[in-house]
Amino acid sequence: MDCIFCRIISGEAPGEIVYQDDEAIAFRDINPQAPTHILIMPKSHIPSIAEVEDYGLVGRLVNIANELAKREGVGERGYRLVINSGPESGQEVPHLHIHLLGGRVLGRLG
Ligand code: 5GP
Ligand code: ZN
Repeated sequence: MDCIFCRIISGEAPGEIVYQDDEAIAFRDINPQAPTHILIMPKSHIPSIAEVEDYGLVGRLVNIANELAKREGVGERGYRLVINSGPESGQEVPHLHIHLLGGRVLGRLG
């Protein structure tokens, strides 16, 4: 499978991993858009949020994102969780992931 995130998960490619458990992993974005920019995702290859079947998994990923926000010190300041899905969203990597962005004032969506 030619998926960069699967290669990071398997250890074939490097990544700055900040959390993992049996089903999920989180590592820092290689091109951070904010002082805190972490990607949280399932270890299994689900191409996008549009193809999710287990919505419990999505809740657990959000729980991890919230905990990482606290650990990064942005829990009180505020942060943004983003999930891109499909071509017009700009999704680059077709392996479901949540962006955790924080540590600066984030502009309005648009
Ligand atoms: P998307 O546009 O798919 O929602 O987000 C993909 C994100 O993955 C981008 O923010 C991009 O910087 C990040 N990314 C792409 N390739 C790599 C990589 O090899 N390692 C890491 N850590 N992040 C990556
Ligand atoms: Zn993958």
